[in-house]
Amino acid sequence: MIKKTLTSAEIRQQFLDFFVEQGHTIVPSASLVPADDPTLLFTNAGMNQFKDMFLGVGTRPYKRAVDTQKCMRVAGKHNDLEDVGRDTRHHTLFEMLGNWSFGNYYKKEAIAWAWQLLTDVWGLEKDRLWATCFKDDKGNLETDEEAAAYWRRQPGMDPSRVLYFGRKDNFWEMGETGPCGPCSEIHYDRGPEACEMKGVPGHVCGVNVDCGRFFEIWNLVFIQYNRVSATQLDPLPAKHVDTGMGFERVVAILQGVDSNYKTDLFTPIMQRVQEMLGHSDAQMEENIVAYRVIADHGRAVTFLIGDGVLPGNVGRSYVLRMILRRAARFGRKIGFDRPFLANVADVVIETMGPHFTELVTRRDYILRAITDEEERFQRTLDLGLSRLDSVLASLEGKTVPGAEAFKLYDTFGLALEITRDVAQERGYTVDEASFQEALAQQREKARSAEKFEMDDQTLAAYHAALRQLQENGSLGEKGVDHDPYTLTEMETTIIGLLMDGQLVTQVKPGDKVEVILPATPFYVESGGQVADVGVIARLPDAAAGGEPLWEIAIGEARRPVTGLVVHVGEVMSGKPRVGEPCWALVDYDRRWDIMRNHTATHLLHNQLRAVLGTHVQQAGSLVAPERLRFDFTHSAMLTQDELDAVVRNVNTLILSNYPVNVHYDNYKDAVSAGAMALFGEKYGDVVRVIRTGWPGEQIISQELCGGTHVSMTAEIGPFLVLSEGSVGAGIRRIEAVTGRGAQGFILERLDKMSNAAAYLLCGPDELDRKVQDTLEQLQTAQKELARTRRQMAQHDFEALMNTVQTVSDVPVLAAQVSVADVDAMREMTDWYRARVHSGVVVLGATIEGRPQIVAAVTEDLTQRGLHAGKLAGSVAKVVGGGGGGKPTLAQAGGRDPKRLAEALALVPGLVGETLGVRR
Ligand SMILES: [Zn+2]
Ligand SMILES: [Zn+2]
Repeated sequence: MIKKTLTSAEIRQQFLDFFVEQGHTIVPSASLVPADDPTLLFTNAGMNQFKDMFLGVGTRPYKRAVDTQKCMRVAGKHNDLEDVGRDTRHHTLFEMLGNWSFGNYYKKEAIAWAWQLLTDVWGLEKDRLWATCFKDDKGNLETDEEAAAYWRRQPGMDPSRVLYFGRKDNFWEMGETGPCGPCSEIHYDRGPEACEMKGVPGHVCGVNVDCGRFFEIWNLVFIQYNRVSATQLDPLPAKHVDTGMGFERVVAILQGVDSNYKTDLFTPIMQRVQEMLGHSDAQMEENIVAYRVIADHGRAVTFLIGDGVLPGNVGRSYVLRMILRRAARFGRKIGFDRPFLANVADVVIETMGPHFTELVTRRDYILRAITDEEERFQRTLDLGLSRLDSVLASLEGKTVPGAEAFKLYDTFGLALEITRDVAQERGYTVDEASFQEALAQQREKARSAEKFEMDDQTLAAYHAALRQLQENGSLGEKGVDHDPYTLTEMETTIIGLLMDGQLVTQVKPGDKVEVILPATPFYVESGGQVADVGVIARLPDAAAGGEPLWEIAIGEARRPVTGLVVHVGEVMSGKPRVGEPCWALVDYDRRWDIMRNHTATHLLHNQLRAVLGTHVQQAGSLVAPERLRFDFTHSAMLTQDELDAVVRNVNTLILSNYPVNVHYDNYKDAVSAGAMALFGEKYGDVVRVIRTGWPGEQIISQELCGGTHVSMTAEIGPFLVLSEGSVGAGIRRIEAVTGRGAQGFILERLDKMSNAAAYLLCGPDELDRKVQDTLEQLQTAQKELARTRRQMAQHDFEALMNTVQTVSDVPVLAAQVSVADVDAMREMTDWYRARVHSGVVVLGATIEGRPQIVAAVTEDLTQRGLHAGKLAGSVAKVVGGGGGGKPTLAQAGGRDPKRLAEALALVPGLVGETLGVRR
């Protein structure tokens, strides 16, 4: 019996509260953009942010956690974008509720609490609930009788509703290796009327029979093994619980509706769409798929942009673009002729913002980015439609080839439906079979984009190497001690050498190798700051002196899996062996350049907000040794005054020589104290805050940041902006230099100025006035030159008039002239027409190495068939070109000036032919 209809917000809150009562800590949802996990396109499960805990390399200040995680699933096996909206339960964006035990409670508590929440707190009918437990269909692994016994013990649980299933349904694995264990699912029986296979012969409804009657609502995973290989499972010393509940689904059940889209997670969105279109309920029902698509995709788009993803052509950005454009397309189909998705996003922010506060903070940015992309799509669509026009015009038969339709779809964003509609209207059909073939090939590519940096095999090799080093005692359970903050050099030992994914014991000159050390001062790329480069070498005894015994040049330090840092490099000399002592030396000057640029990036961010307003948010950042690049949200180009103010203020902050301090803080406290949290970064509960300013005085800048920084701002040196521009969708980009980079830039500019002054025979101080004078002189000279040219042209023209031929009764002038530009030729044809009143003129000239032709025919002669465009075209053909124009005046060009005379000689004949005269 359900007491009263709860809102989705109440359901979410009751879930969190229930587990808080059981001693759990509420953990915020991680970003949809996974931190530290190159194998994953989007966060797609609650466990993503706790992966390190299960792998045994992470630490948290709590052992019990509860959360709701925003997740995205697209282009996967189970969720094709094209299917979303066509049924009532698939989504791109969804929430997953979960409770977690890290080596703390286990099956007994997890099962009892699940039962208590569902039946006591939420009042679900006990005889509608079923539980499943693991029983190995291959007969190798232990049956989970432990869980089954707990299930049977729950008050009101009918023991016959505890079922057993095999590996596919009830055994969970993280990957080919790693943590794994049996799971228990809770299924909800919606009653016989919910079966979608009624009347199918032989059909029997049941748990794990996909007929729509039984819904899995909660999966409790008991992680108790570590998979070492396909056949070997080792028991874990610490056992974990990982649960996942589909939020939209549970809301549908608790609100007593038969579709997720009928819950209050979606209805406010669909109502807003209905209002905007002025649709009746019947009209909405008629177009329900479009409504669902807009509601689902509107949520996904809002959350993705809220997490810093912007529409684009690769990876995550491409997925976002596909989703947004699909929603816009469905909108167009049901009557929107202007951008509307920002209104949809507004409802999403209103309804979800109270829990996902990042949406509220970034509201303006999200709405602007959506409208920008919608407008861009509109333009693309118009382009696509005009391209379709020309495709149809050039078709031989009445069928648009699939490849052509696919090109329209892929390159011009024109959906097959639109192509089909337009084609049909004009009596054409589309070869849809070959379109689908091309589409399937492209989807295959999109799917493989999900693993866009490392394949499973490479990743497994790193995991294996890490485990091996932990097992032989070279590394502790936390893995490599990564400390790029205290020192830039360190005396240490080689504990591992990787070549092509295999651990080796010795390498030789020329080998490409990945070096593993127990601790490292090398910075690993993160938060926009590039990785350090440097050297790992065995140095001779101080007493002995001389060359290093061996040396490896390091081009990059990387963290392929949590807990492991590898130094990627090439052996320059000697034969390094595992176990040998060595020095790890970061390129010190380069690191300093990076630190200056990183601290300057924070100051720039701060001053952009001070000068332009607090709507400015960081949208991307690159901190490299030679420059810094900062992308931020702002809709207009910066004025010169704004840019000047930013540069001046940043330099003032630098010269004031403020200290830059590192604080470790609780995430929530840091953010509420005003530290800026940035897009797409993941923060543990303890965060690193970079604070600029004197302790106890006004804080100049503070940001959550894992980067390396100078300790006093004056160490940055001069700060100069090299460029400011747009990178689309309300995002501006500034590129700047500091320190050595700025010095180099200034010296280079000064040098150029000295050279310029020397050319102009003046001192650098007089340069601007001298340039102005010179330009004035040049202008006067040009005017004089133009006047002289005109006189000469008039003179030449008089001479040309002597070569006029008469064809039939028409005076024809065809001649080569020497002029500076085409305008001069046009002017000569004017003179000619003024002089003869009725006649034909074709002039040719070589201008900048290319033949140019201008033809003119007086108005009266066009009635006799003479056409300037055709004449110019025929002449141009001879010189390897083409062109045309009006009957009275035309222009053409070619490539071969040597044949110009020959071409012009054809003119009288062409005129004669048109006039029907035999010459
Ligand atoms: Zn059924
Ligand atoms: Zn930073």
